[in-house]
Amino acid sequence: MITRFFLLTALFNVISGLNFPSSHELTPRSMDMARSAMDYITKSPSPNHAVEQGVNMLIKADFVKLDERKPWPPLKNGGKYYFQREHTLGSSLVAFTIGHHYSSSSRFKIIGAHTDSPNLRIKPKSRRTHSSLTLLNVETYGGGLWHTWFDRDLSLAGKVILKNPSGIITQRLVNLKKPILRIPNLAIHLQTGPEREAFKVNKEDHLQPVLSGYIEKVLGGNETSSWQKGHEPKLLRTLASELGVEISEIVDFELHLYDTLGASFNGLDGEFITSSRLDNQMGCYVSLQALLNHADKGLKNDSDVSLIALFDHEEVGSSSTTGAGSTLIEESVKRISGAMREEEDGQDLLECQIRKSFVVSFDMAHAEHPNYSTKHEKFHAPKLNSGVVIKTNDNQRYATSGQTGYIFREIGRKIGHDVQEFVVRNDCACGSTIGPIISARTGMRCVDVGTAQLSMHSIREMGGTKDVEMAVDLLEAFFERFREIDEELNGE
Ligand SMILES: [Zn+2]
Repeated sequence: MITRFFLLTALFNVISGLNFPSSHELTPRSMDMARSAMDYITKSPSPNHAVEQGVNMLIKADFVKLDERKPWPPLKNGGKYYFQREHTLGSSLVAFTIGHHYSSSSRFKIIGAHTDSPNLRIKPKSRRTHSSLTLLNVETYGGGLWHTWFDRDLSLAGKVILKNPSGIITQRLVNLKKPILRIPNLAIHLQTGPEREAFKVNKEDHLQPVLSGYIEKVLGGNETSSWQKGHEPKLLRTLASELGVEISEIVDFELHLYDTLGASFNGLDGEFITSSRLDNQMGCYVSLQALLNHADKGLKNDSDVSLIALFDHEEVGSSSTTGAGSTLIEESVKRISGAMREEEDGQDLLECQIRKSFVVSFDMAHAEHPNYSTKHEKFHAPKLNSGVVIKTNDNQRYATSGQTGYIFREIGRKIGHDVQEFVVRNDCACGSTIGPIISARTGMRCVDVGTAQLSMHSIREMGGTKDVEMAVDLLEAFFERFREIDEELNGE
């Protein structure tokens, strides 16, 4: 069925002359890779779910779990490992492989991405009633395009902490899946002309979603904690039934709202992807897949460590225990280097390795918008389905330098992939990401890259189908070709 569709599509393209450039053509492989990425994102309504999905992919490929709280066992050449900062059901993840030819002259090839996206999250006291309805008290997280959250079928997902009658505490992930919440728009007839024009959202007053058409009494009795009294009984009942526990066992949670509509293909040939959280769960997926491909094929010829770090809290500045401003990369590098150390290695081995290491910070980039094309400077206006974008900003909102940009372009050139370039217009403020933060914290060289997308920070973003394949291939090539290019440029 799928093959026939592609044959017909290819035939149509040829006859109509509306073909993509040959290297950008959609093939069954590109559609399959995009489909896997979409599946990953749809099943990751919270950062914790994104990490859980990643862990499942790593376990399937025989990666070994490490525990940050304990001394690590000796690591092996050819070994594959992962750990989570919060150990259980965390929101950040580190995974790495050690090449068969690892030695004291080895370097670290690192890809960073982030698991979080702007969204609405339940406040510690979530019950709120108005106009005979039960609402949910929510807090805005990050800089969302909040008007896109109106009139969507929303649900809840995240982490719940449970305490059973014997006092045993467990943590579970939950995803309610069905639509149970909605933030209704105000009817056009009830808005004044200026209100319609402005469509200004007050983040406190206008974003509280409706949860129920009834108002129930709060839970009572000595058994009920003050935390439980702060939440709608029906919501606690729904969570308890989903988890197969009693309401009294739910002692805390961290729940996120999300759009129940999963990722889908769009465009006449399925050349686009529309989904929530492309920024930056797409980055998480392509990093994971590149590492898995490298672990599968590349370790025999590899002399270095290939590592991916998926951080939380990028959307709110990265300063947290699990963000890019944390010690996550620093400690990973230190512990791996320490575990692989030979007696004859010099005292400053780690510092030497850090100087030779390189970080690819992968976060989404702004594609040129056809209806707002003046927002891009025309020579630096990335397109969808046209390959990975290098982001440069000499004011250091991006960490790309002449040398790091060259190295990444060169990797693309070696595998025949075009890269695109983005520099923001001089009269526009520039976004930022984890690259400058990691560079400043670790002193490692870094390049900021990503795939192009539209509607960044909307509840439903839009990206290119072909870009998934191009990103995975290029990141895999980074793990495989970085050393040869770096040695050409800087010597051994
Ligand atoms: Zn991002």
